[in-house]
This record gives sequence, structure tokens and C-alpha cells, in this order.
Amino acid sequence: MTDNAFRFADELGPLKIIHVYEPSINLKAVLVVDNIAKGPSIGGIRMATDVSTEECFRLARSMTLKNAAAGLPHGGGKIVLYGDPKMPKAEKANLLRGLVNALRNEETYVFAPDMGTDEECMAWIRDEVGRVVGLPREIGGIPLDEIGATGWGLSNVAEVAVRYCDFELEGASFAVQGFGAVGKHASRFLSERGAKLVATSDSQGAIHNPDGLDINALLELKKAGKSVSEFDQGTSMDRENIIDIECDIWIPAARPDVIHEDNVSRLNTKLIIEGANIPITHAAESILYKKGIMYVPDFIANAGGVICAAMEYHGANESSAMTTIKEKLMRNTEQVLERAKLENIEPRQAAIELATDRVKKAMSFRRFSLFSTAPEFL
Ligand code: NAD
Repeated sequence: MTDNAFRFADELGPLKIIHVYEPSINLKAVLVVDNIAKGPSIGGIRMATDVSTEECFRLARSMTLKNAAAGLPHGGGKIVLYGDPKMPKAEKANLLRGLVNALRNEETYVFAPDMGTDEECMAWIRDEVGRVVGLPREIGGIPLDEIGATGWGLSNVAEVAVRYCDFELEGASFAVQGFGAVGKHASRFLSERGAKLVATSDSQGAIHNPDGLDINALLELKKAGKSVSEFDQGTSMDRENIIDIECDIWIPAARPDVIHEDNVSRLNTKLIIEGANIPITHAAESILYKKGIMYVPDFIANAGGVICAAMEYHGANESSAMTTIKEKLMRNTEQVLERAKLENIEPRQAAIELATDRVKKAMSFRRFSLFSTAPEFL
């Protein structure tokens, strides 16, 4: 097939790519439904001015793998919505209401939040079509960033991953890049297990104290709208210097591609738990692997949020969501690291194989491999 429209097509998908356009409200968006062999796709709406169909496809594919690895009855999909997420609220609501109406009958996709969209946006969607996760608590949602679903997942991943390293979690030192929704809760849960936060950063700067940082005091500082670098019990640094900090566990929880071939040698750690999405380039991960530094890939480690969203969709409450996150992530981390050890392959390759096996198994039950004609998918 030479047609450019099929440039992303491979054995797993994408099943469909839909361009949504409505000039009267300046609506431009793309929905990619990658693979629904395991169930209706879940993946958030990313709103930004610089998104593309290619980015949408890559994000949808990573949701296929993340949802499969997490053992959820959901496939992967994604929407990119062109626009400034900080536009006036009325305009944003209009755009989102238009978008979901255009996709009203796309039952292969469940709307969810991502960068640039939040609980309030999901509430508007609920008002229009109902098929949505990531709702405010007042209308039945489980507020995953407030309860720290992803950070909770990371702390459970750490508990398993240290068994493949030469240190204990109790007393281990850790550094967190990005003291936001993921980073602060990961810090809180890890410190409850006896680990010590020695450095953290945000977009303004970083703070370091080898004797340990007071997490509650840092949380108060952030609540007051300040940067962690303004904390008075430690050495404040440029935000990039967090990479050099000596620690047992290093957690990227900020931006994509922060570690690459040119700076990976600066890391002074034994274990990396990837909280952000694609925080380390694949080339840099290979360098870590060869140096004997253990890492747990993003779509295994940070699946707590999507597990929580899927649990909400299926009517679960907060405490059962947290229990499920713990069970699934501990089991998956063990399976990935065990497979990597036995087959002598990188953790990322082991994770991709595990997830792809699960998607292919689900595809084998279908009359058509990628889609189903069963009512829930129509
Ligand atoms: P957030 O906006 O709440 O927090 C991000 C933090 O990183 C902020 O404190 C910000 O100041 C800081 N930051 C930004 N640029 C930085 C830089 N260059 N250096 C250091 N710090 C920087 O976002 P979040 O929800 O915590 O998400 C963080 C990452 O985790 C993103 O990549 C996101 O896609 C990914 N993720 C989030 C979830 C979730 O449940 N929220 C789930 C899976 C993956």
C-alpha cells in the first residue's frame, strides 16, 4: 500500500484515524483508535497548539501497550485537539462540546483527560455523551491526581524493582524530577516505606539535601505557589542539576526526552522508575542497561492513572482502585524484570513483548483481528 493515509499501519493498527473539523467554532482535532481487540479504547484528549496526527498515533499506540500491559479490558486510542488550553473557559467548553458531538457515535473510544484537559472538561463531556472517565468526585469520579494514583503505582513498582538491585527500599535515597501530581505523591508514598527524598525539582529550579527533605514542608511550599528551589533546608540548584544527584533511585516525573545520549552518563543512580511518559530516549535506555543500571519503562511504571480511570469507568470506588493498582503493577513489574533477566534483554523489550503478546492473544479471538461487530463496539 503506497497511499500516505496508511503510513502508520502495521499488524496492531491503527483501526481508524478520524479528522474532526468544524470551522464555525474553529474546531480541528484528530482521533486515532489504534487497537480495540481487548475492548473499547481509552486514552486522553491532549490539547495543545503544536500537536500532529503522527504524535496522536504514537500516543494511541503507547496506550494500546499500556492498557494491555496493565491487563485492562481496553484498547488504545487518543485525541489531539488543536488550541491553546488556557483559552477563555467558555470558548474551551464550546470546542470540547463540539468535538464530542462530532464523535458521538464513535463507541470504540472512551473520552479521558490528558495534557491541557482536566476533570472539569470531562464533566462537560459527560453532559454531552456520557462515555467518559476522569470525572470530578461530585459526579462519581475518582480524582486520580488528588489521590496520587500514579505516584502510588510508582512506589509499588519500586518495591518490586529493588529486588533486582543490590539495596533495600527501607533507607534508600531517591530523587524526583518534577514535584507535580506524579512526583509529589510518589515522594510521599516512598517515604512512607522508609525511603529518603534527597533532591527534587520543578520548572523553576531544584533543591538538594543528602540528609533528606521534609516532604510535607515541600507540599506546603508548592501549595503557596512557590518553587521547591525556595525551600530553606537544602541547597538550591538549577533544575538541570537534579540529573547529577547521587541516589539509589531516580524518578523522572516531568517532561519527555529529558535523558538522552548526551546526558545519560551524568546519572549517578542504581534504579530508574519512569514516572513521566518517554522521559528517556531508547538509545539512552540501552546505555543504562549496558552499564547495569536497572530501569522500569514508562508504560509499565506509570500505569496507575489509567488503571484508576478504567476502574472508575467500571464503577469501582477509590479504595478498590488503589488495591488493584498495587496488585497489577507489582505483578507486571515482576513479570517484565523476570523476563528481561531470563532472556537477557532490556526491560523495555521485555515490556513490549509482554504487552504485544496480550494484544495478539485478544486479536486471535476476533473474527476480524482489529475490530469486533459485538454491540459494545458498534
Ligand atoms: P504536573 O504538571 O502536575 O507536574 C509536572 C511537574 O514537573 C511540575 O512540578 C513542573 O513544574 C515540573 N517541570 C516541568 N518541566 C520541568 C523541567 N524541565 N524540570 C523539572 N521539572 C519540571 O504533571 P503530572 O500529572 O505530574 O505529569 C508528569 C508526567 O507524568 C507527564 O509526562 C505526564 O504525561 C506523565 N504521566 C502522568 C500521569 C498522571 O496520572 N498524572 C500518569 C501517567 C503519566
